[in-house]
Amino acid sequence: MSEKKISLIVPVYYEEEVLPIAYPRMKAALEQTGHDYEILFVNDGSRDGTMRELRKIAAEDQRVKVLSFSRNFGHQLAVTAGMDEATGDALIIIDADLQDPPELIPDMVKLWEQGADIVYGKRKKREGETFFKKFTAACYYRLLTSMSAYPIPLDTGDFRLIGRNVADVFLKMREHGRFLRGMSAWMGFDAVPLEYVRQERAAGKTKYTLKKMLKLALDGITGFSTKPLTMPLYLGGAVMGLSLLGFLAVLICALTVGAAAWLWALCGVCLLLGAVLFFLGVQGAYIGRIFEESKARPLYIVAEKINL
Ligand code: UDP
Ligand code: MG
Repeated sequence: MSEKKISLIVPVYYEEEVLPIAYPRMKAALEQTGHDYEILFVNDGSRDGTMRELRKIAAEDQRVKVLSFSRNFGHQLAVTAGMDEATGDALIIIDADLQDPPELIPDMVKLWEQGADIVYGKRKKREGETFFKKFTAACYYRLLTSMSAYPIPLDTGDFRLIGRNVADVFLKMREHGRFLRGMSAWMGFDAVPLEYVRQERAAGKTKYTLKKMLKLALDGITGFSTKPLTMPLYLGGAVMGLSLLGFLAVLICALTVGAAAWLWALCGVCLLLGAVLFFLGVQGAYIGRIFEESKARPLYIVAEKINL
């Protein structure tokens, strides 16, 4: 057995049906890597038999650790708690419902051993998911990519391996509205994709309600882009420019064929509207700065040091 250790982080929310199927598959996959390992289950406030199942598993296997939240804090925070507790040299985040096949773990570890800092699962196909989910996801990721300064790879979720160096940066980023896949993209490092087919849920129903999905989507945009705040700046500038052109056109008309009074009024209203939008955008630019500062992220990330 090598001296390296892998931490598997599994957020669980009302998953009593899948745990008895998921745990043996996760364990078998981890055994195959040849490394020491731990499995960290984070119970995100489930009130069904989830804790009963977890207690059973943890009683028989010392490598299984369990964290249990006082209430539901959401998937992203459950994963964060797991990262905070993990002691491995590499951390792997996986859903409990077996949509991300644990059998890919040895391949992820292999890529990490070859030098990747991050190995992220890239979905080349999604089985058993509704058209609505696939369609909204496709639109959303394209929108996010167009707004964010740090490209977030398309068709990825949180199923990924991160090295200890990356995990240590995560520990320093304590923002509340978390969007882990975006934070991972923001950090940079050598990220390698691993393509896979996302499976159907092993049992039960999705725990990501529409409300939770919307919150995550909004956290993704507001956490990684201040463009929406400064949009009125450009729109207002354009409206002001157009109304000045309008004034010129009305003036020419007035001097030649004569112009109605309401045309002057229209240009005046547009000019004011443009100015209001413009200064809204100016405020947005400042609010954006306050927001960036309040995140208190590290200013830079050192990936390697030599002789220091
Ligand atoms: N989950 C969680 N807290 C929540 C919602 C979900 O810990 O509030 C867990 C859930 O148990 C699963 C993972 O997050 O392990 C992904 O959730 P789910 O499979 O329901 O989402 P989907 O795959 O449908 O997007
Ligand atoms: Mg799922």
